[in-house]
Amino acid sequence: MKDYFLYIAKYLLLTLLNLFIIYLILPKDFVYLLWPITSILLFLALSIHSANIFKLKHALQFRQLHYFEPKISIWQDVMYFLTKWQKRYRKRYEDLQNQHQDFIKAIQASPNGVILLDNQGYIKWLNSRMKYLLNISTQDKGQRLQHLVRHPDFLNYWNNPTESGIDLKILTQVLHIKILTIDENNLLFLVQDITQRHKINQLHKDFMANVSHELLTPLTSILGFSETLINKNINLNSQLKEQYLEYIHKSALHMQDLVKDLLLITELENSKTIEKKLIDIYKLIKSIFKEFELSLSGRKLILNDNISHLSDKSYNILGIEKELKCVFNNLLDNASKYTNANGIIQLNLDLISADELKISVIDNGIGIAPEHISSLTHRFYRVPESQHIHGNGLGLYIADQILKKHETKFDVSSQISQGSCFSMVFKLEN
Ligand code: ADP
Repeated sequence: MKDYFLYIAKYLLLTLLNLFIIYLILPKDFVYLLWPITSILLFLALSIHSANIFKLKHALQFRQLHYFEPKISIWQDVMYFLTKWQKRYRKRYEDLQNQHQDFIKAIQASPNGVILLDNQGYIKWLNSRMKYLLNISTQDKGQRLQHLVRHPDFLNYWNNPTESGIDLKILTQVLHIKILTIDENNLLFLVQDITQRHKINQLHKDFMANVSHELLTPLTSILGFSETLINKNINLNSQLKEQYLEYIHKSALHMQDLVKDLLLITELENSKTIEKKLIDIYKLIKSIFKEFELSLSGRKLILNDNISHLSDKSYNILGIEKELKCVFNNLLDNASKYTNANGIIQLNLDLISADELKISVIDNGIGIAPEHISSLTHRFYRVPESQHIHGNGLGLYIADQILKKHETKFDVSSQISQGSCFSMVFKLEN
């Protein structure tokens, strides 16, 4: 404001000075000319300023400030400030625009579905994830969500929304949905795919049920037989007593095996970060072979070593020795369990390429029907025909988990009454 008055005062002073000079210069007879000259000067000043105002209005209207290049200093100041503000606002606008774009990109990249609705449920905006979750796409903008999702649980939830949301089962998918109120006119509809989490929860529940069942069966036998033995009213002959004690012992061994395997599974899950080391796999197999030979009770174990003669280089793989030992012991144990007393078990080593070693455990036992093969590595899975043989269905699951860690897997081929072959290929390190 102060500047403004100074400016006016400066120009008033200049005008008066001009008039005074003119008054001095002009002969006294021509003083009457003073007023017309003043009027002309004022008219000229007014015209110049009016013209500038008009040009400025035009430049602002068409957002082309650079078209207006005034010659008068006050207008140059005006333009300087206008241009400065324009630059500042343009920069702020661009920043906001970028922020907006980043925000949209982040919502688009979200693994969760997001829909912005008005308070009646009409779709205003949605991210592309909704297409995969509920088959709602941008073409559905302007439609009511309640008309697109007809699931009764959703419609119930729409009428009585809660902050915790609900789980919606749609075919094989499980979705967690939630409606949030942004303000009185806007709602946010959020969808999260929890199928995997749901499956894991279900697996945990099944696992707990299986473990309880597996432990309860031998425990019931132990309790039943021991109670009979303790009961003084029941007279048992020594042969029966011995038989019952044997049952108790067998059941206790079964429980021990199960607990050992469960501890091993926990250990495996906790040891995901154990560092692999170079292992001489040929040496390892030979030592396992020697150990196992001692516990065959009549069965024959043959090592078909097709590699030792090829060269004298060592066969190293990257792995965890303790875990790999567990895999081979398990396979050999199964081969022995599911083969009759004079069966033959073979351990084959074959070099299938310069850096790939195939190890196979082959037996000529009871074999496995084709429909069971894909389920062998499931927790607690046992082929019904082999239920009478001692086992808990965890060995191949554990072995499979270990092989996954070593970036390989089982290849199983089998024929009923002919035998089975479990093979796996390891990558050799140079
Ligand atoms: P377990 O032997 O303790 O029951 P596993 O996980 O080691 O558990 O094996 C799962 C099932 O696969 C066994 O119950 C058995 O039915 C079948 N199986 C595994 N190995 C063989 C084999 N060599 N011959 C026949 N059946 C086998």
